[in-house]
Amino acid sequence: MKRLFVISGSSGVGKGTVIKEFLKRHPEFRLSISCTTRKKREGELHGVNYFFLTPEEFKKCIENNEFLEWAEFSGNHYGTKREFVENCLKNGENLILEIDTKGALNVKKLMPESVLIFIAPPSLEELESRLRGRHTETEEAIQKRLASIKLELENSKQFDYQIINDTVDKAVKNLETIICSK
Ligand code: 5GP
Repeated sequence: MKRLFVISGSSGVGKGTVIKEFLKRHPEFRLSISCTTRKKREGELHGVNYFFLTPEEFKKCIENNEFLEWAEFSGNHYGTKREFVENCLKNGENLILEIDTKGALNVKKLMPESVLIFIAPPSLEELESRLRGRHTETEEAIQKRLASIKLELENSKQFDYQIINDTVDKAVKNLETIICSK
């Protein structure tokens, strides 16, 4: 692996869109595919967006020490497979992890040379309306996500870089500037 970039952002902040656009412009970067116990959203595919595991399967992976890091987020489990990251390391690839802030700080402890980037919403009100605009989750799930946002913003103070996502194009350009300077 050349460099490991870890990107986090509050739910609904549009980090997925920013990363997707970055990868279109920079196909030499790979995006890690995480495992999760959450239900598939419409249009998501196993092995593309995530590896969708049952809670039992996820537990087995923890017991077998297969995760580099894992975290509980909004009542579901998410984890990055150690083997995937190690293979990229061996192949000399640039790798991006899109994970929550807790997971990102754990990766930084294990791999201090990794670069942590936080994508922040222009405002909390804007973020709430984006979350609701997705129409993919129940009110209860939305409330849970909003509650975790405060913690994420707190954790993000320990990140190497912050990008405000006011427009996708600007955010992608900022991301390019950070990543290409490394
Ligand atoms: P979503 O359910 O919206 O796809 O993701 C919810 C949160 O889980 C996001 O903040 C996302 O970055 C995070 N996440 C996704 N994969 C992983 C992972 O492998 N590890 C950790 N710690 N967080 C993850």
